[in-house]
Amino acid sequence: MFWMSSNPNRMSISQMASAKPPAAKSEAEYLDGLNPEQREAVLTTEGPLLVLAGAGTGKTRVLTTRLAHIIGTRLAWPSQTLTVTFTNKAAREMRERALSMLGEAGEGLRWLGTFHSISAQILRKHAELAGLKSTFTIIDTDDQIRLCKQIIQAENIDPKRWTPRYLASLIDGWKNRALVPNKVPPEEAHQFADGKGITCYQIYQARLKVLNACDFGDLLIHNIQIFQNNPDLLKEYHDKFRYILVDEYQDTNVAQYLWLRLLAQGSQNICCVGDDDQSIYGWRGAEVDNILRFEKDFPGAHVIRLEKNYRSTKHILAAASSVISHNKSRLGKTLYVGDDNAIDDIDASKVKVRGLWDGEAESRLIADDIESWVSKGGSHEDCAVLVRASWQMRAFEERFIMLGIPYRVIGGPRFFERAEIRDALAYLRLIRSPDDDLAFERVVNQPKRGIGNTSLAKLQSYAREDGRSLFVLTPMVLQTDEIKGGAKRGLTQFIDQINLWRDKLTNGMPHTELAETILEESGYTDMLQKDRSPQAQTRLDNLKELVRAMGEFDSLAGFLEHIELVMDASTGGAGEDQVQILTLHGAKGLEWPVVFLPGWEEEVFPSRRSLDESGMKGLEEERRLAYVGITRARQHAYISFVANRQIYGRWQSVLPSRFVDELPHEHVEAVSETGYSGIPGGDTGFTGTVEDLGERSNYKSPGWQRLKENAGKFDTRPPRDATNLSATSGGPSGFKVGTRIFHDKFGYGRVAHTEGNKLTVDFEKSGRKKVIATFVQPV
Ligand code: ATP
Ligand code: MG
Repeated sequence: MFWMSSNPNRMSISQMASAKPPAAKSEAEYLDGLNPEQREAVLTTEGPLLVLAGAGTGKTRVLTTRLAHIIGTRLAWPSQTLTVTFTNKAAREMRERALSMLGEAGEGLRWLGTFHSISAQILRKHAELAGLKSTFTIIDTDDQIRLCKQIIQAENIDPKRWTPRYLASLIDGWKNRALVPNKVPPEEAHQFADGKGITCYQIYQARLKVLNACDFGDLLIHNIQIFQNNPDLLKEYHDKFRYILVDEYQDTNVAQYLWLRLLAQGSQNICCVGDDDQSIYGWRGAEVDNILRFEKDFPGAHVIRLEKNYRSTKHILAAASSVISHNKSRLGKTLYVGDDNAIDDIDASKVKVRGLWDGEAESRLIADDIESWVSKGGSHEDCAVLVRASWQMRAFEERFIMLGIPYRVIGGPRFFERAEIRDALAYLRLIRSPDDDLAFERVVNQPKRGIGNTSLAKLQSYAREDGRSLFVLTPMVLQTDEIKGGAKRGLTQFIDQINLWRDKLTNGMPHTELAETILEESGYTDMLQKDRSPQAQTRLDNLKELVRAMGEFDSLAGFLEHIELVMDASTGGAGEDQVQILTLHGAKGLEWPVVFLPGWEEEVFPSRRSLDESGMKGLEEERRLAYVGITRARQHAYISFVANRQIYGRWQSVLPSRFVDELPHEHVEAVSETGYSGIPGGDTGFTGTVEDLGERSNYKSPGWQRLKENAGKFDTRPPRDATNLSATSGGPSGFKVGTRIFHDKFGYGRVAHTEGNKLTVDFEKSGRKKVIATFVQPV
């Protein structure tokens, strides 16, 4: 078998020690329980294979089992398999599932991740072939927009008419289609500033190179170009990746598709699984047609269909199928429910549809449902709240905090997008890569160091002319009289401090300690402590959370790489019993026993923007999103909508989503909230069938009127866990010698000595350490 002749350099140490890859659990064990089609998909290891099937039919299970089978039967080393999926969370789950089947044999399963994370790994290895250094920064949307703004300014384009955000989205769109500047069709250049689109794109790419940075789209584009320009290297990757497995194939864009096709040319052993009804990334350039092209691009491809749904109850599946049947453009397929999906009380599993007065009532009801689920023996992690837009999350977060319901937000860089987190990260990025001008610009005057826009503009124009980074150039400019007074002092201090911190890191200071030092010595923490606004404490807490998260990584570089890639970073530790809040887009591929789908209102869902921008196509994509949402539920799906929403600070009456009307009556229960304690005497007016819910005139019903009268009489129960809301450390001066404290990294200890903001603490586990007071809490 070829694994014997594989390059020993690619083996992990423990594999080499045992000379032969350890065998997995017995084959029968993991094949057991698969249906014949699933089994066929697992066992057809050689040649191209497409598995096209509806939600919950076991596509991901097939893919994971197939991976385990390939490794377990020693067709390939773990490192010779490439497995791609869409979200970090999905990748984590897949890895766990595969490893549970493989045990030790799975060691070295390195190439399992998202398109972004894998292409970033490849690019780090060959960065020089793309004109980058291996320390390159991956910039996010915020930085992209900042860069576009500078280009628009420099090109004298009217930023009101042609916004930086629009330019960034055009560039993203081109990258999704794998179009480098000289490949953009000339007519498309006219979409921006009367033909300047391509020039701006060119400048943007040139700037990224100078910054030693790339954006998300570049990760794949650079990979593709490197492979195309270096056939020998591509050949190495062909030899390396003997088996390629792709989940959620319906959502690949052109660039991802080309990347896969290049890599699969070698072995031709590519297995893609997908569901056209779940294609929800059209707005990001996903092409469902990739599914149809598969058989053309890989002649002789084997296609397998799976039809049995193992996930949901018949009501849930019927509800989802009914909604999606309103879409005209579909490949169409049958789905039936396995007998084993039924739960004891089948009626209880009807999809519940509830109309409520407003968002607060909605979040309250959902919180109560979760508590009731938990009181009956369920866990918090069984429950997920899936929203269309991230703004909807806040109401749930607040409610959960108030009631002490543990939760975490997954999806979207919400936590890492907060201003204070971005600032801290910018300091760290600048320490890692001095060429990172975007980071420089972000923090050079944050906290204030007397460096105004004029000084910064001067530096920027020098940097543009000279081609070197701001960090390299600033000390040179400071030798002249170009910048004087406070700005000069501020800049000198800034450069000196960054150099000093970088030295500390080089000399072995742990990265978590470095982060604490930076926040303290830069005056950042002080700035927040002096800030009297209620958000200041939250921001300090967020920074502590950041340091805590850093502790999970071995190095600063590892941590930053992770941050740049995590689109679904969580605010809580993994594996804890928490309710999950995430967007519908982020929920793809996942499942929970209890799923809440709030905000099913016209303009929220389907979202007004997608209808405005893409008309019928947009509506169908929204409907697929509804299908994805409902099919995440295993036992209970709760759909809700409200009558009033506060949008941009103003109350507006809203209508239930058209998708509510598309639900099948016999599988849905429209629930009256009579007796629901949160609203005194409350009654939504909804009793009976979903038909009534669809009747917009219901808003005038007595139930609604009563609700209206009672609006404002909301729950006044005190928070169950007051500590969740209280401030923590109370500031450095609050620590006395002998106080018992808790530090995120070192655990419990007692203060032995204080010196301003610094504390010497005798930790119970890790001995005596000097720490910064802001990062400890009295216990
Ligand atoms: P989606 O389209 O939502 O990504 P999927 O097709 O990938 O769904 P999976 O997540 O793989 O579906 O499987 C759905 C659920 O059904 C999982 O809990 C899985 O463990 C279970 N399942 C799949 N196949 C079988 C089977 N043969 N026997 C029992 N349970 C199964
Ligand atoms: Mg799946």
